[in-house]
Amino acid sequence: MSDFPARIDALRSRFSAWEIDALLVTSPTNRLWLSGFAGSAGSLLITGSHAILSTDSRYWEQAALQAPDFELFQDGRRPADLESFIQRAGSARIGVEANHMTLADGETLFALKGPSWKLLADAVEPLRAIKDPGELEKMQAAASITDSAMAQVPALVQTGISESELAWALEKHMREAGAEKLAFETIVAFGPHSARPHHRPGDRRLSPNEIVLVDMGAARYGYCSDMTRTFFFGTPDERFQTIFGAVLAAEQAAIEQLRPGYDSQAGHALAADVIAATGYGEYFGHGLGHGVGLDIHEAPFLSPTRTAVTLERGMTITIEPGIYLPGWGGVRIEDLGVLEHDGLRCISTSPKIPVIPLS
Ligand code: ZN
Ligand code: ZN
Repeated sequence: MSDFPARIDALRSRFSAWEIDALLVTSPTNRLWLSGFAGSAGSLLITGSHAILSTDSRYWEQAALQAPDFELFQDGRRPADLESFIQRAGSARIGVEANHMTLADGETLFALKGPSWKLLADAVEPLRAIKDPGELEKMQAAASITDSAMAQVPALVQTGISESELAWALEKHMREAGAEKLAFETIVAFGPHSARPHHRPGDRRLSPNEIVLVDMGAARYGYCSDMTRTFFFGTPDERFQTIFGAVLAAEQAAIEQLRPGYDSQAGHALAADVIAATGYGEYFGHGLGHGVGLDIHEAPFLSPTRTAVTLERGMTITIEPGIYLPGWGGVRIEDLGVLEHDGLRCISTSPKIPVIPLS
């Protein structure tokens, strides 16, 4: 039984609140989630009674196979084709995904005669945030592959290995363990580089008594995982121990207390308050976490700078506090979990033992 009709119905049930009769879906991820069609080009038009997928001839066969719940509109890439496609919605109020359309595409669309247009931010994303059991199984598979790669880190780390070499060894492991791709570019940061939350691995070679930060994720069946561990290669000094302890306590506070009904900004504060109490508050500059699914970063966002949302059962979120001291280094610990009725259940399970003895 396909999940897609239920997803389309859930979307349609919101049309009246959005004051639209139809929705044009141009985000590739939203298109995939609503239809199953994984091609690189195409858009959906969902009306009250029809669900239509438009794509070009490269994908007609694939579209019929992957999206049997949709009528296929064969886009011949002629200028009139877009108009014919949109006319399938009649003279309707059509919603467009304002976050997933270029100005040029918008200009072409809004020049068409007939429909009236309504810009919508985040129409499909809030629906995608809540995962069904099939999606959770796929995410668990992705998280398990990431766990198995993280388990390799202590054996791979040695004096002289470069960030790029370690990243490649981990990426290779994930692919061999069943990842179809990486969920995002692997972050491996040594020493002071770990103070940059999104450092790109480079030629820097590891010396004894340095931090090793690894943030990585596999993608499996289209779904992403995301996990960070911070290690110390050698004998950690007091500062590392203090900072690691503060980040771990912040992460645990959030994991233990978050549950459905929590406000996303209050969720951030659960960890931020623990870090602030240690005096390192100004060195935790990013949000506590984010949703993960078909996209590596998706709704909901647990951040003081993002619109607050109520956390709901079935959401998959990361918890990833960090403390970053420029010139010294940083510590981040990140786990991926699913909100169940009584709290957050982590689906990444790698141990948080930071010390890797010198080999
Ligand atoms: Zn991460
Ligand atoms: Zn993350």
